[in-house]
Amino acid sequence: MTDQHEPRATDGAGMSAEARLVHAGARPDLGDGLVQGPALTTILASVGEPGAADYGRAGNRSWAALEDALGGIEDATAVVFASGQAASMALMLALAPGRDRLLLPRDGYYNARVLAERLRPHGAEPVFVDQSDLSGIERELGSGPAILWAESPTNPLLRVADLTALGKLAAMAGAPLVVDNTVATGLLQRPLDLGAVASLMSLTKAAAGHSDVIGGAVLTRDAALAGELRTWRTLGGGILGPMEAWLVLRGLRTLPLRIERQSATALAIAGHLADHPSVTAVHYPGVHGPTLAAARAQMPRGFGPLLSFEVAGPAAAADAVVAAARLIVPATSFGGVESTWERRARWAGETAPPSLIRLSVGIEPASDLISDIDQALSCLRPAD
Ligand code: PLP
Repeated sequence: MTDQHEPRATDGAGMSAEARLVHAGARPDLGDGLVQGPALTTILASVGEPGAADYGRAGNRSWAALEDALGGIEDATAVVFASGQAASMALMLALAPGRDRLLLPRDGYYNARVLAERLRPHGAEPVFVDQSDLSGIERELGSGPAILWAESPTNPLLRVADLTALGKLAAMAGAPLVVDNTVATGLLQRPLDLGAVASLMSLTKAAAGHSDVIGGAVLTRDAALAGELRTWRTLGGGILGPMEAWLVLRGLRTLPLRIERQSATALAIAGHLADHPSVTAVHYPGVHGPTLAAARAQMPRGFGPLLSFEVAGPAAAADAVVAAARLIVPATSFGGVESTWERRARWAGETAPPSLIRLSVGIEPASDLISDIDQALSCLRPAD
């Protein structure tokens, strides 16, 4: 006979990642509340030999639940951090010993490049590469021990790197491949299956999805690397607070629904913009271009919530379009339930074209968004 107080099975074996996300860290014992709040404690009562999480900088029940959920997405171990940048820094430091160079995409998230430059005296020499130039990357990998850091799709140009090809080059050279998977998330793209040793996500974006929390995570199947990352986190102190962990976990439960809708809407908007007379270029992985085949192969379920486009005219014209929106919020970041956009080159250090607008597609109906985009773009047409 089953003891009615026995906790129900929690291992998720045989379940889809989506099903595990809904339940991760939330299976109550009978008689317990269905929702367990954030573990707002810095210490655990203990005596004798200390446990790993006796002090809250080293562990917390809310992180454990979140790491369980995140790890399930890519069948990996997850280590969560205070932000995507804290996760990147820990990863750069953890992988640097014994490696001279850090190969980074020239056109990826600009603060990854800035961070790599800052860490130069403490780690590997940053070398900025074109992710689509496979022979150039092979040459770089052949000239000494290096880390290969990819980002796909890139922010803000949405370029897709052929992760299978990069995984093979990295394996041949004995170099660890890291993939910044923030834009796609592990639900749309699984870098660890394609040869990456680490898959990095800013949880601030689609993972949490409600524009109310900053966090980051590294997913890996390498136990030694996970241990190193935890050590950097504990000693460096870049920890996620329990409240933040709880908020990310709550957002994560609906990620499959949100990202499916956002991807479908983004694809529809990209198609609409491609035919728009005031738009000179559209950047979205599923639309066209040399990386379409790689995008379809490695992102079979959709291309994510982020797209960018360039308008005819100078930066001021793009600013006018952004300001003219009635529904889309003029704001940075991406992946939230509300659509936002910004002229990306307003940030110092960003190398995007001056009139490029980056649009983060939310969960509003596509027809509302397309109407708003059209009325905002109409400010570019000369008055009749
Ligand atoms: N990676 C990418 C692709 C990003 O766009 C960002 C932030 O915009 C980060 C990493 C850094 O994440 P966070 O802002 O959570 O530190």
